[in-house]
Amino acid sequence: MVTVAVVVDTPQHSTVRGALSYDAQVPLPAGSLVQVPLGRRTVCGIVWPQGPQPEPGVELKPVGEVLTQLPPLPAAWCALVEFAAGYYQRSVGEVAHAALPADLRKLADKQLALRLKKLAKLQPAGGTAPALPTLTAEQDAALAGLTGDAAQVALLHGSTGSGKTEVYLRAVARALDAGRQAMVLVPEINLTPQLEARFSERFPDRVIVSLHSGLTPAQRLRHWLAAHLGRADIVLGTRMAVFASLPRLGLVVVDEEHDPSYKSQEGARYSARDLAVYRGKLEGATVLLGSATPSLESWHQAERGRYLKLAMPTRVGGGVLPRVRFVDMNHVPKDVAHSHALSPPLLDALQRRVAQGEQSLVLLNRRGYAPVLQCLECAWKSGCPHCSAWRVFHRVDRTLRCHHCGYTERVPSACPECGNPDIQPVGRGTERLEEQLAVSLPGARVARIDADTTRLKGTLEAQLASVHAGEVDVLVGTQMVAKGHDFRRVTLVAAVNPDAALFSSDFRAGERLFALLMQAAGRAGRDAGQAERSVMLVQTWHPTHPLYAALRAHDYDAFAADTLKEREMAGLPPHAHLALLRAEARTQEAAQAWLAAASSTADEIGASAAGVTLYPPVPMSVARVANIERAQMLVESGSRPALQRFLSQWLPQLHALRGEHKALVRWAVDIDPLAI
Ligand code: ADP
Ligand code: ZN
Ligand code: ZN
Repeated sequence: MVTVAVVVDTPQHSTVRGALSYDAQVPLPAGSLVQVPLGRRTVCGIVWPQGPQPEPGVELKPVGEVLTQLPPLPAAWCALVEFAAGYYQRSVGEVAHAALPADLRKLADKQLALRLKKLAKLQPAGGTAPALPTLTAEQDAALAGLTGDAAQVALLHGSTGSGKTEVYLRAVARALDAGRQAMVLVPEINLTPQLEARFSERFPDRVIVSLHSGLTPAQRLRHWLAAHLGRADIVLGTRMAVFASLPRLGLVVVDEEHDPSYKSQEGARYSARDLAVYRGKLEGATVLLGSATPSLESWHQAERGRYLKLAMPTRVGGGVLPRVRFVDMNHVPKDVAHSHALSPPLLDALQRRVAQGEQSLVLLNRRGYAPVLQCLECAWKSGCPHCSAWRVFHRVDRTLRCHHCGYTERVPSACPECGNPDIQPVGRGTERLEEQLAVSLPGARVARIDADTTRLKGTLEAQLASVHAGEVDVLVGTQMVAKGHDFRRVTLVAAVNPDAALFSSDFRAGERLFALLMQAAGRAGRDAGQAERSVMLVQTWHPTHPLYAALRAHDYDAFAADTLKEREMAGLPPHAHLALLRAEARTQEAAQAWLAAASSTADEIGASAAGVTLYPPVPMSVARVANIERAQMLVESGSRPALQRFLSQWLPQLHALRGEHKALVRWAVDIDPLAI
């Protein structure tokens, strides 16, 4: 008999953080999948490279069935999981099992053998590769910088339309030529079909698979196996794909690396971008981070020389970035400014585009018809009974919907408080803007793209296709329309109401706004013929704000330098490191009381001597969701290792703290939180 360490799926609050010990007849290679008894159940486990010393005299249970047909998960994969679990303060079992396709656990050896046989026969579509475009000088230089040295991390700062995708394609081609696999990550599932098409066209004789949450369990298993067996040369996907098992990984591309979607908002709350960088180091793979507006974290690393900076400031084929102009809402007549979303200069610009047969894109980052309904007689507003938030008025189906808990009701015909039939929408969302545009621009074809119009599978693709085909004159939308699309006929991009983010309490709001507006601007003037008259119009009450000055000059570098200086003075990331402890309870007092107790525990283990600061507990910005009260406490340190050491001492104690706090529903920690 030999003792083997096995990692099983354990919940967050389990006392089991690492591997358990079992008996096996023969030594089993690390990374093998096995069935093991756990309590009265039999569960799937992964043989782990290292585990605890079994206590002497304790009788170990035997390992059950072993999936001998499956090649073991690579050591580097186990190391990645181990790192992620440690860094994000979760159990190894939870992270490991979440990273595997659910159907893998259900497989018996025999079925697996059949599947693998099928996969072995997997054939690419074939066909001829297209003629390659001649690289621009900037693309050439960027590719020359990618030396292929083990564990190189490069930040490709390429403006919108500078041809970053071509650089990715060439870098992938090199990795494949060297006999390695490549992984390409994109922030949104919506961007995967377009990416898949580009890669299949370029590499017709290669196996390309995708990994994202839109796959059926069977597809996910098939794609995952193709990657794991080394049959797939290219793996495309969203953040979950960073955990794919790839035996020959040579390159990881993270496109739009600044995008918040790379940070998971549940479970381990990992950052796929940060894990990609770690993974590159582990496996000697090149990591290529690309963006027109890099995250300040990545920019800071590049400035310090930790990442190689590659710059592509020029648009391909003579396209230029649009001129940015501001409509000063202080100079628009008050009644117009307050009652209309569209100022006269903006309407005028839109009318001219429609008359010339050119397209416009109107950005408003708020869906629905109006964010709130209000009674004109009494103080009633359309609050959510379950959340500390307004319910949004959706006109299509005349509902009030809570965007936090989902609670939906028909719009009442009269005020529920006083019976007054005159209840009015306040403010506006994309639905109302679309309606207003249709009225103000008679004859124009107005369309809208947001989470509401694209709920059904395939609708976004269809809507985008009609924009590309020139069947739309004015496209209204949320940030969904700003990302990634290569619109060729857009000569006007308008931001209707972006000011709110300038004064948000979230320290990253400005960074996000700047990125969004730069991305949106990037949708215009992509065609050289129209580039000269392309314009971005921003309606604002604060036209002299420094963020807008940087936007006007398309000067990311200046924006980054200013913002990094501010962050340094304020002790914020990337100059400091944060963790957020969140508590949910039946009452706000109970949530905060638990955090206060957690804070006392931190004092006892010497947080401040360790260079870690804990801030007082505060309610979250939306304090109540679905009748649960939420509070949070910020934990900060100038040193990442110090913060990590402290957390790994502190959090295990918090599991024990639970007992005395009956009203606590749950708690969780978010490492490197995006929003605080
Ligand atoms: P980005 O991702 O940087 O915004 P894209 O990769 O979408 O830019 O490229 C913009 C356009 O330029 C695309 O239509 C692409 O096919 C084209 N393109 C890229 N590189 C070249 C090149 N070297 N020669 C000709 N066209 C190119
Ligand atoms: Zn009323
Ligand atoms: Zn609600």
